[in-house]
Amino acid sequence: MAERVKGETGEWEIVIGMEVHAQTTSHAKLFSGASATFGGAPNAHVSPVDAAMPGMLPVLNEYCVEQAVRTGLGLNAQINKTSVFERKNYFYPDLPQGYQISQYQHPIVGKGEIEIDLPDGSVKTIGITRLHMEQDAGKSLHDQHPSKSFVDLNRAGTPLMEIVSEPDIRGADEACAYLAKLRMILRYLGTCDGNLEEGSMRADVNVSVRKPGAELGTRCEIKNVNSIKAVQMAIDYESRRQVDVIEGGGTIRQETRLWDPAKGETRSMRSKEDAHDYRYFPDPDLLPLHLTSEWIAQIKQTLPELPDQKKHRFMKDYGLSLYDSSILIAERPRADYFETAAKGRDAKLVANWVINELLGLLNKDGKTISDSPVSAKNLGTLVGRIMDGTINGKIAKDVFADMVSSGNSPDSIIESRGLKQVTDTGAIESVVADVLAENPKIVEDYRAGNQKVFGFLVGLAMKKSGGKANPTAVNEILKKKLGESL
Ligand code: ADP
Ligand code: MG
Repeated sequence: MAERVKGETGEWEIVIGMEVHAQTTSHAKLFSGASATFGGAPNAHVSPVDAAMPGMLPVLNEYCVEQAVRTGLGLNAQINKTSVFERKNYFYPDLPQGYQISQYQHPIVGKGEIEIDLPDGSVKTIGITRLHMEQDAGKSLHDQHPSKSFVDLNRAGTPLMEIVSEPDIRGADEACAYLAKLRMILRYLGTCDGNLEEGSMRADVNVSVRKPGAELGTRCEIKNVNSIKAVQMAIDYESRRQVDVIEGGGTIRQETRLWDPAKGETRSMRSKEDAHDYRYFPDPDLLPLHLTSEWIAQIKQTLPELPDQKKHRFMKDYGLSLYDSSILIAERPRADYFETAAKGRDAKLVANWVINELLGLLNKDGKTISDSPVSAKNLGTLVGRIMDGTINGKIAKDVFADMVSSGNSPDSIIESRGLKQVTDTGAIESVVADVLAENPKIVEDYRAGNQKVFGFLVGLAMKKSGGKANPTAVNEILKKKLGESL
């Protein structure tokens, strides 16, 4: 079991709670009008507020508040009508204010939950403790000059949502499923682009171990875990390390550790400061934030259908399996593509084509559905042509390959290449008659009781027709002719 570590003294349970920093999708920063977009020349996106010039005052970006509320609603969480911005005081060269504005005692979002999907198909609910808004710090650059460090404040003041989970997660599989599901929900909501590589989503993973049923153990917080794979590796390493320490007679100190992807290990960064070291106090430049029920209700009305709702609807309305639905809803544009193609068509057949042919092709090149060379409408038409008997499934694969390379519509390809299925029984009868005449030995075999050669004869007839014969008709006619007396 992935959620246990085997030690000398028996099995240990792995307990995990995650703190995820998600950069809020917004054009402007949390307290200034400077651009919040990723990249740009160093210090190109910095207003006097972000640079903490004396006398500058923060002005709260209403859109970021709306995004935080939207996210809270998407996590089935309590929205707090009153929340408070506080100063978290610390010194760092990339933090010119000398404090980070964050929410502490009164966050905008309280308790919620996320359902995660586990590899064995089961579902587990993970509690959300809170979501609060805060500003990001700038960046120190140590690799630009042999003896100097530089400060880039482009990131200073960009809006973040910190989403904290309860210690409900057991083991690496669940942690990865949690992160993947959270990212999916944020992307559906349009409140964070979920790009782990660019750092717009960063996870701190708190890990402890205990004997099953015992009190919670002491946790270590692992920072710098910026991919789903890294989450898995960091947890596997850290839980093993903790078990070895405890079984070796040591104790776990609460501390912050760093994940080193090159070495594949965690190492101590600093022992854990207590929260009061930051001397939090309400920011006197910002009034407590009051939201009205009407405003929250308005935002609620604009929520899109969320991944789980969509998954269940796909299973119910289209008769798809859990597996197929899960694949189709993993990204919102993918789900939309499927629904456009499936309109008025055999949905299961469309699902097969999207998953096996199209996604198979795109995945090979590391592309997403938005890069698809075949439009949803054209894929739908192709499936329609199978359904109405214009082409058979095998020819459809040819047509599809042509659609991918030429970008042409299925109808024009079928027409110009003369791929229409032959259903005219007269034509099929003559093809079958030729096949039988050309293969007397096989026919003899069949009549002597070797049923297996039947499929081979079907294949020959299909081939002779250029793949265009209706396979059902070929089967019937062949059976009839073979049954006729000599
Ligand atoms: P801090 O900012 O000091 O790390 P937070 O309250 O923001 O504190 O976050 C604590 C995180 O640690 C939460 O995700 C919580 O679920 C998790 N956590 C708390 N206790 C344990 C434990 N014993 N083992 C693993 N995770 C824990
Ligand atoms: Mg923490």
